[in-house]
Amino acid sequence: MRTKMYIDGQWVDGIKTMPVTDPSDGSVIAEVAVAGPEQCEAAVAAADRAAADWAKTAPRVRSEILRKAFEIMVAEADAIATIVSKENGKVLTDAKGEVMYAAEFFRWFAEETVRVPGDFRKSPSGDKRILVTHQPIGVSLLITPWNFPAAMATRKIGPAIAAGCTMILKPASETPLTALAIVDIMERAGVPKGVINVILPEKVGESISKILHDPRVKNLSFTGSTEVGRVLIREAADRVIRCSMELGGNAPFVVFEDADIPAAVAGLMLAKMRNGGAACTAANRVYVQKSIADQFIKEFSQAMSQLKMGKGTDAGIQLGASVSIKERNKIAELVDAAVKAGGKIHTGGTTPEGAGAFYPATVISVDKTNDILNHEVFGPVAPIVTFDTDAEAIQLANSTDFGLISYVFTKDLARAIRTAEAIESGMVAINKGVISDPAAPFGGVKQSGLGREGGFDGIHEFLETKYIGVEI
Ligand code: NAP
Repeated sequence: MRTKMYIDGQWVDGIKTMPVTDPSDGSVIAEVAVAGPEQCEAAVAAADRAAADWAKTAPRVRSEILRKAFEIMVAEADAIATIVSKENGKVLTDAKGEVMYAAEFFRWFAEETVRVPGDFRKSPSGDKRILVTHQPIGVSLLITPWNFPAAMATRKIGPAIAAGCTMILKPASETPLTALAIVDIMERAGVPKGVINVILPEKVGESISKILHDPRVKNLSFTGSTEVGRVLIREAADRVIRCSMELGGNAPFVVFEDADIPAAVAGLMLAKMRNGGAACTAANRVYVQKSIADQFIKEFSQAMSQLKMGKGTDAGIQLGASVSIKERNKIAELVDAAVKAGGKIHTGGTTPEGAGAFYPATVISVDKTNDILNHEVFGPVAPIVTFDTDAEAIQLANSTDFGLISYVFTKDLARAIRTAEAIESGMVAINKGVISDPAAPFGGVKQSGLGREGGFDGIHEFLETKYIGVEI
């Protein structure tokens, strides 16, 4: 297990260490190195020194490094999944699923590296040739959250390598071990020194602000809460740094009366419970048409009540711990307030005793004005609201500042497409509980973010478009 930071091709100590804990019992798993100003500066300097040569490497060279990283990550998936599960609390099956998904970003971007298209045209007036090319944007700062410590890192490292950018990665303080393990893979895959640097700054806000005001840094790719994203957009504004923002969600899950109910229940189990509910894509507001609501709630509550909760690395466990007691308590407070405001619990809703950061799978019927619907519940809680008409479902689904993903269940294709087009979100899942795919553009509208990761768009978050006009 790597516990030092990685700067300029070396594993280095910091000014002190910080404990990483297992949230299922509070035990310390490792002590990781923490960066002071000197290490932050060294990381920026290393990325800057490596940038010009790295930008010039042949796409095939970068592609093969990514392909090798994909192969190592798949071969070592079980070991990395154990690290993910231990430091994050999620169950091992979720962790393994995440590691495989994370590795796929390396494979996808290995393939994208050699396929960046350009453009060559005659201008409409015929006075010149229009040549459009794409160049690496340069030193990029990558900041990732704790909920998908592997996939959120590779979704940025993959396209940055593919584009020819150097980078400084700052993982979440709760889950740095996964990021360090991934960088270890990149080192073995042949990434030259200085191209990837990982730091865990002691004073996060201050250090990141300094990096964003450094003229050597050209790009910010952030995944995390809308609250922190907003702060970083302001910081980046001073030097007009390009920003890619993957922020919070508050996904609606709409079930129409003509839906296949068992399929919708299975879809919601995935959309809500993958990652223990701690996903930006998690279904947070379930809207069910009145005529089928009783049956749907009964079947869904039964499925939720059967989940086995416990330490993520134990066999047969389906719901692990939240990442920390603090996060768990936020979930409990939201549920308690929702009950006080008239919510009716169908299953769960009680905080267990003990040192682990556990919260049970919870189903709660609420009125459409209940405040829980205004929050991204980052845990295993499904608030359910009933509706009468399609127009009402769309209005309720759109009654949020977020717009990352929405889920729609119906057997009527026209109704599905009408709803998908009317819903304000960057992604819509139709009759499916998970649609994340490295080959598809991931991202949100409204306050869920700016830009897209993955798909054909992902590499462009790390490329600048250049137009060259040629006299002929
Ligand atoms: P967070 O509190 O916003 O933290 C995300 C990252 O930002 C962490 O590395 C954190 O570092 C860092 N950070 C915090 N304050 C900072 C500051 N002032 N300046 C610079 N960096 C700062 O989010 P989280 O709790 O880890 O993750 C959960 C959130 O992420 C949810 O809202 C979820 O929806 C969102 N998310 C979105 C996507 C997406 O693709 N749209 C994917 C996953 C998660 P420390 O850990 O050291 O504080």
